[in-house]
Amino acid sequence: MVFDGPYRMLIGGELVAGSATFDVLNPATEEVIAQAPDATPADLDTAVAAARAAFPGWAATPIADRKAKLVALANAVWGNADAFARLLTSEQGKPHSEATGEVMGAGYWLQANTTLDLPETVNEDSDDRISITRHVPLGVVGAIAPWNFPMILAMFKVAPALLAGNTMVLKPSPFTPLTTLRFAELAKDILPAGVLNVVTGGDALGPWMTAHPGFDKISFTGSTQTGRRVMASAAPTLKRVTLELGGNDPAIVLPDVNVEKIAEQLFWAAFTNNGQICIATKRMYIHKDIYEPLRDAIVAYARTVKVGDGAEQGTQIGPINNKPQYERVLGLIEDAREKGYKFLLGGEKADVPGYFVPITILDNPPEDSRIVQEEQFGPVLPLIKFDDLDDVITKANATDYGLGASIWSADEDRAYDLAQRIQSGTVWVNETQHLSPLAAFGGVKQSGVGVEGGLEGLLEYTNAQTLVRKKKPAFA
Ligand code: NAD
Repeated sequence: MVFDGPYRMLIGGELVAGSATFDVLNPATEEVIAQAPDATPADLDTAVAAARAAFPGWAATPIADRKAKLVALANAVWGNADAFARLLTSEQGKPHSEATGEVMGAGYWLQANTTLDLPETVNEDSDDRISITRHVPLGVVGAIAPWNFPMILAMFKVAPALLAGNTMVLKPSPFTPLTTLRFAELAKDILPAGVLNVVTGGDALGPWMTAHPGFDKISFTGSTQTGRRVMASAAPTLKRVTLELGGNDPAIVLPDVNVEKIAEQLFWAAFTNNGQICIATKRMYIHKDIYEPLRDAIVAYARTVKVGDGAEQGTQIGPINNKPQYERVLGLIEDAREKGYKFLLGGEKADVPGYFVPITILDNPPEDSRIVQEEQFGPVLPLIKFDDLDDVITKANATDYGLGASIWSADEDRAYDLAQRIQSGTVWVNETQHLSPLAAFGGVKQSGVGVEGGLEGLLEYTNAQTLVRKKKPAFA
């Protein structure tokens, strides 16, 4: 398939241009690269009605057939990987190699979910009765995705929701709608009409979805602030929600690591995807015995990293995805400058077109500084010196967030023990950001509600239904 022609929504099996459009920019150049459809409330109503109409048929489709459709979707993604990756770089900004990784991963998420099954639990099988709990689909799911990993995070939702027998209306971020719209074109020829609908639009579309009475569940990935609004808006109709929200992940580096060998890995823990990862390391606590040499090794490595247009050969870090986020990151840098914190690298605004922020590393800012306490979601990392392990665990946990964390040590058992004292949905030892479609992933505290991935994630797209059958009833 060649990715050309106007971008259209997928509603009830038809590609729909919509009555208006909005501009989509390339964040490396700030140039308009495409127009995406701007859905109206009537478009949303039509999409919800189509999903509702398709639900009984899809729910009744044998799970093996639903799995076959997910595998076909995966093959369609993989078969167009290069076109998807180029488009992803142009709308998101990430380097081509990382965009390719995301596209391949999106296909893998679709495929790997098909190894899961919906369990049945026999609660009782006695002379009197048999009681079984099974898992039935919810109905119509509204899925809302962010701009940092637009393709793969959409598939985190599409794969389990459809596998479980639900139908869906999916909304990408207005900053990155294009790859999702091309995916919709492929899905049109694979899925029955109405099973997956894709709508795009501006800031009003998300709230229309969360308030819409036609959804049974909202699956949302985005910021904690928006997550609170989603939950409030879903309350009047008691929609189920899964909320995958922000984080402020600590990395804790113990003094027994090999400083030279670990510096590069720690750098990428924070700066992959330009720091725009919910589970990026956002504050790095380094033991005082190795603080100076490790700090210097991380900065030395950072100086070798190429920042630029993701479409250019050799680029390792692209621009920030969008203007509001660019300004937010610059605001945090400005705050650090005003407070007189020490910059090891960066801290200047790049004087080029595009939303470029130079790699910025701060030397031991205070624990209560904004850059330590807030989620930066950009290429700015505070390095913080620590002395006492109990104290650093307390600091790691002293946040409303609880998404991920990592502990780095040559003594794996010791690190594993420490990991169990961290209050977050995932803790990694000697690596970070490893996710699997077969493992539950989610945030605790204000980093989220519920999980995606694994059997636990799949079951969030179902209602538990218990069937009880009396054996040998007295009247028979
Ligand atoms: P965002 O909250 O601004 O937007 C996310 C999505 O919600 C977009 O599609 C947006 O259009 C929509 N939206 C905006 N306002 C809405 C409203 N009132 N009601 C319903 N929908 C609305 O987030 P973002 O800036 O796109 O993404 C960055 C944030 O997402 C970061 O905080 C990051 O940590 C978080 N994130 C979390 C995970 C996770 O799995 N926990 C993964 C990726 C990103």
